[in-house]
This record gives sequence, structure tokens and C-alpha cells, in this order.
Amino acid sequence: MNYNQIRRPAKEIAIGTCKIGGKNPIAIQSMTNTDTADAVATVAQIRALESAGCDIVRVSIPTLAAVDTVFAIREAGIRVPLVADVHFDYRIAVRCAEAGFDKIRINPGNIGDDDRVRAVVDACRKKRIPIRIGVNSGSLEKHILAKYGAPTPEALCESAQYHIALLERFDFTDIAVSIKASTVSDMIAANRLLGQACPYPLHLGVTEAGGGDRGLLKSAIGIGSLLCDGIGDTVRVSLTDDPVEEVAAAKKILRAIGIEGQSGMDIVSCPTCSRTKIDLIPLVKRFEQAVRAEGLDNLPIKVALMGCVVNGPGEAREADVGIAGGIREAVLFRHGEIVEKIAENDIITRLIAEIKHIAAQTEET
Ligand code: SF4
Repeated sequence: MNYNQIRRPAKEIAIGTCKIGGKNPIAIQSMTNTDTADAVATVAQIRALESAGCDIVRVSIPTLAAVDTVFAIREAGIRVPLVADVHFDYRIAVRCAEAGFDKIRINPGNIGDDDRVRAVVDACRKKRIPIRIGVNSGSLEKHILAKYGAPTPEALCESAQYHIALLERFDFTDIAVSIKASTVSDMIAANRLLGQACPYPLHLGVTEAGGGDRGLLKSAIGIGSLLCDGIGDTVRVSLTDDPVEEVAAAKKILRAIGIEGQSGMDIVSCPTCSRTKIDLIPLVKRFEQAVRAEGLDNLPIKVALMGCVVNGPGEAREADVGIAGGIREAVLFRHGEIVEKIAENDIITRLIAEIKHIAAQTEET
């Protein structure tokens, strides 16, 4: 899928070296769960997230003392853009902007009077860093909750617009917005409303999604539905797990949607049926392991593994390359056209060689 063809046009903003909105790739975010004041642990976790391919890391800053961890992070040579997550205390937000964070996540409606909002806006403007507004179904403003009676999608959208207006009042438009809810359908509906109501880039996530399959499925449906609508500029898969797993899960979701050019290898395989002529299930697992071992999983190539020659090549016509199983052999095909036969034991080696060949050709052009 060429995401930019269906994409909601959003204002482009820069979080350090990572631009979001416009036609920029969907950025993957995660958040540390260490004690931020413990610089050693926080640096180690951010390094792990950076290595896993996280584009933007959020760090909660509950105290003024925790702000200084940003210096240890930068001294350690970590360059991934950092977002300071601040609740309620405008002084912490101002200090984070001054200390070198690349974005501040704070809700201006929660920090007090206009002077405080202005202080945060001025600090961010001076450092040319954006503010992310983060609306959550669990912490809606009382006046909005009273109006709607529950955190409905309309209430969530109105809350986001309320916070946006507080920043726009000071001519500050370097804004990203997220609306998160633990009910997937509410999260989807609220972001659809907000996508029409504001020009800013949207950060997507299902909050408190849980762990394991439950967390992955909820996030895949919530984030995936919106991305398929062309809505969304950054994503976080909130899991009750190691934050590194959030990055892996986000990549899986982007890959499953098939967003062109950024989600890595798209492996498609048939579900098998009575026509299946090869032991496809273990073959797919072995192929996935080989792709990871060879470091090829980030290549933007579509590969098909199909169970029979009768339907396989045709059903997987969109794949750059694939195999379809025969009896103790397979055929290799490119874009649905069969090009050669392969002995069963050579299937993975031959496919990997073909993928490397395609990658080399792509690099040349
Ligand atoms: S590709 Fe062949 S084996 Fe696989 S599901 Fe389709 S018909 Fe069955």
C-alpha cells in the first residue's frame, strides 16, 4: 500500500531528527519504564529501544531531578529523539525544554492559568520543539465529562480540541495530538473525528492494551484500522511487557498492513488445504528464521510461500518472489511467472539468494 496516496494531509513537525506528518514515514514510538532518575538503567533501556528500531522514545519526568537524565542520555551518545512526558507541573515542562528534550508531552488544560501555559509555549518556541497533547479516556476534563456523561469519542475529540485551542491562543501550532482509549472502537472513532477536526499529526495507540496476543490484537485493530483510513503519523503499541517488545509489535502491524517501503519484508503464505503438496507450515517457520538470521527482514520485498503450483503463483501474483510447493520440489516464481524448479532441500537457500539479488538490483537503481 502506498500510504501517501490515501493519507490524511497533516502538518509536518520535527521531533529532533525525526520528522512526522506530511509524507514522512510512520514513526514508531515507545516509552521507557525505568525510574528516569536512575540514569544508568534509563540509558540502557533507551539504547535497547534505539537498537530495536524505535524512532522516538518517550521518558516520563515526574520530578525536576529526573530532568537531568537527559544529559546522561546524550553523553552516552544516544541520538534518538526524546520526548519528556510531564503531568501537571509547568515548571518541569519548561525545564525539560531548556535541558534538551526534543518534544514535550503535556496537556495545557492541566497546568493552570494562562501564564503557565504561556511559559511552556515560550520555552518550546525558543527551543523550536513541539508539544504533544495526549488525551486519554481515563482522565477527561470534568466539564467535558459532565457534558457527555462518559468518555465517548465525541468527548475525547472535544477534549483534544480544547487543549489545542489553549496552545493556538498563543500562536503555537507546532503540535502533535493523540487520543487514546482502552476501548478499541472508541479510540478509532475519536481519531476519525479528530482527523477531520484539526490539521496536526496524530499519534496512534490503544492504551492499556495488555500483553501478549491480547495487546497485539487490540493495537493491530485500533492502529491498523486508522492507518488503513490514511489516518496516523506515529504509533505506539502499549504492551504490558518490555518496551522493546512494543517496537517489535509496531513493526509487525506496519508490516501486516503493507505500508510501502517502511515496514520491511512482507511474507505471505497460504493457509494450506487439501491441495497442499509440501510441508508448508515448518517451511514458513524455517524461512522466517533464515530471513532474521541473514538480517534481511527490513528489506521492502514481498515474498510468498504457497502450498501448490496450481493456485500458488496466481494467488501470490503481487509478490516480488515466491515458491509454490510440488511433490519433493517447488517452483520459484517472480510476480506470478514460474521461472525454475528447486529441489525441496534447496528451497530456503535459493529463496534467500533470490532476495539478496533483488535487494542488490534495487540498490543499483
Ligand atoms: S495455494 Fe494451493 S495449497 Fe495453498 S491454499 Fe491455495 S490452493 Fe491450497
